[in-house]
Amino acid sequence: MVLIMSKTAIKPCKKCGSDDILLSHCNYSSFNPGGGECNKCGFVSKNYVSCTPSQQELARVWNSGQRLDDSEKLLLERKKTRQLRKQLKVSSKENQQIELSALCKKFITDNEISCGESIWQCDRVSENAPEFIEQVAEIVGYHEDG
Ligand SMILES: [Zn+2]
Repeated sequence: MVLIMSKTAIKPCKKCGSDDILLSHCNYSSFNPGGGECNKCGFVSKNYVSCTPSQQELARVWNSGQRLDDSEKLLLERKKTRQLRKQLKVSSKENQQIELSALCKKFITDNEISCGESIWQCDRVSENAPEFIEQVAEIVGYHEDG
């Protein structure tokens, strides 16, 4: 295997965003596999190259493997949206507390909860609880996997 350290235009790794990419090829006389490998996450993008490929040729193989397909684009978009939502959530922590407090007071008033016992005695409290929980989740955010 011939390793080529390259400073030519190489796209960052689509998996981890690192630009520490190792270009290499196997030095076979035919069907010579070559391309790049991310030094950070190990993502490999290779294809058959000529028997003595230039850095540009190897970089092209690596680069063509860094294009995102539609499902990967979608995932990336969703990730960005999630991050954005998280940022907004942090900046509006104060608003959140005000909204939450108002929502709780409204629920207690609407359901005429005057003491602990009335929560258990009145069916309307448990009937209205799911909607209340939904409103709480809209304010504080839903559970997210990962
Ligand atoms: Zn990587």
